[in-house]
Amino acid sequence: AKTLAKPRIFLPHLVASLEQVDETYIMGKPDGVQRGLVGEIISRFEKKGFKLTGLKLFQCPQDLAEEHYKDLKGKSFFPKLIEYIVSGPVVCMAWEGVGVVAAARKLIGATNPLQAEPGTIRGDLAVQTGRNVVHGSDSPENGKREIALWFKEGELCQWTPAQAPWLRE
Ligand code: ADP
Repeated sequence: AKTLAKPRIFLPHLVASLEQVDETYIMGKPDGVQRGLVGEIISRFEKKGFKLTGLKLFQCPQDLAEEHYKDLKGKSFFPKLIEYIVSGPVVCMAWEGVGVVAAARKLIGATNPLQAEPGTIRGDLAVQTGRNVVHGSDSPENGKREIALWFKEGELCQWTPAQAPWLRE
């Protein structure tokens, strides 16, 4: 008797659910707040389809700024960078989604706004590295580290956006 071929089952929703959901720390820097660009920054991540899980206006203390940028300690611009970050309120955001860390870096654009592509936040809205409007974590590990650094547990919200089934099949 002919043996039947084993059925091959493809369940895309199961494959999708295996994709890693990452989180990233996005921050509207003091110049972004002072220049009235906070709505614009939030809007770009919202429209892209990522999920906001934390949001606050916050005056950053010196030690937190230094901890956040500890990998840059020793760089010539480090003191000016810390002075800039504590110079006025920042807007702290936690965003979640599949591929959110790398996608957010693309939406933000290159560190030097003059080299950032048009269409990116820095490419459209800034002209100098020392005033580049927004921060975004550079790896999923740093995303977790920075969210834990800037937010207390009770400040983060887990929720299911109504649009979820219209963003991912
Ligand atoms: P990014 O923010 O794009 O991840 P880096 O991690 O290299 O960039 O640097 C962190 C921040 O330090 C930059 O966003 C910018 O605000 C500041 N910075 C970096 N390089 C310089 C520089 N040469 N002069 C002044 N500020 C700088």
